Amino acid sequence: MNMYEIITRKKQGLPLTAEEIGFFVSGVTDGSIPDYQTSALLMAICLRGMDDEETFLLTDAMTHSGDTLDLSAIEGIKADKHSTGGVGDKTTLVLAPMLACCGLKVAKMSGRGLGHTGGTIDKLESIPGFSTSMSDDDFIRTVREHGITVVGQTADLAPADKKLYALRDVTATIDNISLITSSIMSKKLACGADCLVLDVKTGSGAFMKTVDDARQLGRKMVDIGRRAGKKVGCVISDMNQPLGTHVGNAIEVNEAVETLRGRGSEELRHLCLVLGSVLLVNAGIAKDRAESEGMLSASLDSGRALSKFMEFVTAQGGDTSVFDGERLLPVAPLSMDVLSPADGYVSSISCADVGMASLLTGAGRETKDDVLDLSAGLIVHRKVGDRVRKGDAIATVYSSDEKKLESAAAKLLDAYEFSQEETEPLRLIHEIIM
Ligand code: URA
Repeated sequence: MNMYEIITRKKQGLPLTAEEIGFFVSGVTDGSIPDYQTSALLMAICLRGMDDEETFLLTDAMTHSGDTLDLSAIEGIKADKHSTGGVGDKTTLVLAPMLACCGLKVAKMSGRGLGHTGGTIDKLESIPGFSTSMSDDDFIRTVREHGITVVGQTADLAPADKKLYALRDVTATIDNISLITSSIMSKKLACGADCLVLDVKTGSGAFMKTVDDARQLGRKMVDIGRRAGKKVGCVISDMNQPLGTHVGNAIEVNEAVETLRGRGSEELRHLCLVLGSVLLVNAGIAKDRAESEGMLSASLDSGRALSKFMEFVTAQGGDTSVFDGERLLPVAPLSMDVLSPADGYVSSISCADVGMASLLTGAGRETKDDVLDLSAGLIVHRKVGDRVRKGDAIATVYSSDEKKLESAAAKLLDAYEFSQEETEPLRLIHEIIM
């Protein structure tokens, strides 16, 4: 078997066999296949597609291209959640403690932010002392003891994806549903949870721009996860504007803590209830979504989820005294309001531009080696459908640097469009795949 033949078969539109896919993935992982042949095959896959069987085989080979986590030493049902990435998506910080309060064990590996999207690991690292790396044994011990652990993804997990993703990024081969499915699901399956909920984002801040594309991706990932023996559900949620109001790192942690205190963002709370309910039903803990939403709401309203969050932060070395009483994490010292230029309604917000504005404050990365200002970011005060008057503060940007502040404020103003006509607020949940 050789790569020339495999590329030729895919170029002709023929399905690849398990042996061919296995040969390809192991050659990518050990470096024996040159990048030009890998890129050629990726392009052939983009042009000719892969059927469900091939997508499953590719995902399976990528899952086993490196270490896989064995969570069997943790009693109970192990749960995980994945978001395809967005702006202001601090869901894990609120949802994980809610799930742990309802009896699930949350064993989660998360990523860092890149470009206009943020990452949970950066957000957690804005809490003083919080550590996002630990040995596999400590990971398992912490989940057993506290019901939640969130760490950064290690390089040994699905290493084939790391190499393939880097090549896809520079060869215009990102946007293929089979390749995206195998990339995301190989990492999730290697983490070993029993139950998984996928939050597939759609809209101007997501890489799936339409609900149809998001649905196709969601369905494919659910199918592949189920074939791998996991309980998988999916929520298609809106990313045509930031989730909630806060975008950044410490700033997002603050919104999450306020939501756990019962007074943060209604939208964030709603998304957590929906995602959590899919998991609780699939895990067999609740009989239907109404019952699960009741259990999840009670975890928030009783303050148990907030206590669980503090326990989780302490277990990972974080200093919770920063949240004593009403306290929150400090934000960057310089701030500037973005003012509405006219009377009317907010008719749209370019969510990717809001993410770029946050990046410009210093809160995001252009390249993966950039160093973040964890205290920087922004808060939006008006969202789509809201009424504004000329001169109202529609958002506030925070930075440690005057120039960054000004360019972020200008970018954020550009992200907004206004209309004289009344505009409907955006719908947050587009579809649920149980
Ligand atoms: N996120 C991933 O991890 N992989 C993709 O292919 C796309 C988004």
